[in-house]
Amino acid sequence: MQGLMQDWPLLTTRFLTHADINHPTREIVSMLPEKAEKLGQFRYTNADMAQRARQCGQALEKLGVKLGDRIGTLAWNSHRHVEIWYAASGVGGVTHTLNPRLFPEQLIYIMNHAEDKLLFLDITFVPLIEKLAEHLNSIEHFVIMVGADDMPETSLPNVLCYEDLLAGEDGSYEWPELDENAASGLCYTSGTTGNPKGVLYSHRSNYLHTMGALSGDTLGITSKTTILPVVPMFHANAWGIPYATAGSGAKLVLNGPHHEPDILHDLIIQEQVTVTAAVPTIWMGMLQYLESTGKDMGKLKVVTIGGAACPRSMIDTFQRKYGVRVNHAWGMTETSPLGTIGSENAYIENFSEEEKLDIQCKQGRSIIGAEICIKDDDGNIIPRDGETSGRLMIRGPWVAKTYFKQDEENMLDTEGWFDTGDVACIGPSGYMHITDRAKDVIKSGGEWISSIDLENAAVSHPNVTEAAVIGVYHPKWDERPMMAVTVADGASITTEEMHAHLTGQVAKWWLPDDVVIVDEIPHTATGKISKKDLREQFTEYKLPTY
Ligand code: ADP
Repeated sequence: MQGLMQDWPLLTTRFLTHADINHPTREIVSMLPEKAEKLGQFRYTNADMAQRARQCGQALEKLGVKLGDRIGTLAWNSHRHVEIWYAASGVGGVTHTLNPRLFPEQLIYIMNHAEDKLLFLDITFVPLIEKLAEHLNSIEHFVIMVGADDMPETSLPNVLCYEDLLAGEDGSYEWPELDENAASGLCYTSGTTGNPKGVLYSHRSNYLHTMGALSGDTLGITSKTTILPVVPMFHANAWGIPYATAGSGAKLVLNGPHHEPDILHDLIIQEQVTVTAAVPTIWMGMLQYLESTGKDMGKLKVVTIGGAACPRSMIDTFQRKYGVRVNHAWGMTETSPLGTIGSENAYIENFSEEEKLDIQCKQGRSIIGAEICIKDDDGNIIPRDGETSGRLMIRGPWVAKTYFKQDEENMLDTEGWFDTGDVACIGPSGYMHITDRAKDVIKSGGEWISSIDLENAAVSHPNVTEAAVIGVYHPKWDERPMMAVTVADGASITTEEMHAHLTGQVAKWWLPDDVVIVDEIPHTATGKISKKDLREQFTEYKLPTY
């Protein structure tokens, strides 16, 4: 027997309409990529955004956008980016957010593979796209996201001005009732191995992911929240935050091209930001800034940190010194991205501060709508004992089942689990702890050493600003850990000093065979430590214990 409830397709535009009707005066504040001055900002309301997104939708239809057409965006977090993001999928197209930090060849590959019909780009990226334009096979128009006064001279063909496009429309438009399973967004993973792979979100998957993001224990977003998603929209939809703000009536603050700690800090104070989110590297810079200036974090209450493991020292400093609660989250492009989160919750309510810190170093519990488990190499589920590690698997309505244009390849196992490529363990209370990416795990004498645990323990040393550990060939043990570190200005650290610091935090046989000070640790396009580049940097290197 079927239920007798309405078929009301779960569409991303529902969030925009909800915000327009229920929270029309709530603000959106955006820094403008075309304005150089520090807080050159634009400010409007949800009602304005909904109106302009409809105008944008009308313009897209006039440009011939049809169901399923891919619309590329190469843009920072800004109000215009959110408008086109809603409009492209709202009219039945697919919003394809591009990561400008990728190598030019990867950008060309991705745009051609996606067959983007239009490209909406910030003025910042005009010089980059001018160089690539002759290789882009499918783009009919390049839309520069500025007003007519700011339009640059450009060699790009078929150029349009964003504000002119919108000015030609009146916004009297109703979003079509699409199939909720229709594709709505496309995001390529950075492809640390092989070509980047496209994850194709649907309206339904984004809708359900947003409901998961809005559940009480997830990101801590309500209509009273002011949120600054420092995480870019091209990094897995800014973790879904612009949908969640419209769906809840939270105020949205967008930092445009600015990621410098002083500017982010000014924005947090000026807009009285209460919640924010980004990868650990951003917060590393912020904590250094706070340390050197003696400033505080104003009204900030929660920072969600994910995308890479968050060190204990970072969680501790944020909470103890600045009164900002850290939510440690795990996810990936293939999981929309939220999979697990460790937020303030009933389970840890009566824990001591130390116990809370211990559990916060883990990546949290699965959010409602997603299920996780750990499997061994034979595909058997490993018990949730908090110790035995294996491959982290996830399933749920916002987890990818295959990549774009690889429909014939089923990525899931027979029980519908997606193999994340991460190695983790899960405890009896559901808390998951990532030890490593499977390819980064260090295999020493048949046992595994977690590069993440070593890195996180190392950065609590006052002289160390960042640490990265890789496995290096060793004739007796197969692999042994080598630690590359960056140090604070004028500081230094020896291998012996690092051993002394790590002793008691990790097993003795985990201690790195060498600690090397480097000028910089390489990062990926999504701001994570790039082990691949580090390994390349150290191909000729031999351990002193060799
Ligand atoms: P990219 O590889 O392009 O950065 P993703 O953003 O999809 O793509 O990366 C997902 C991966 O990031 C996960 O599989 C995991 O290895 C890592 N990751 C994400 N969050 C965390 C976390 N909190 N702790 C440790 N690793 C994390």
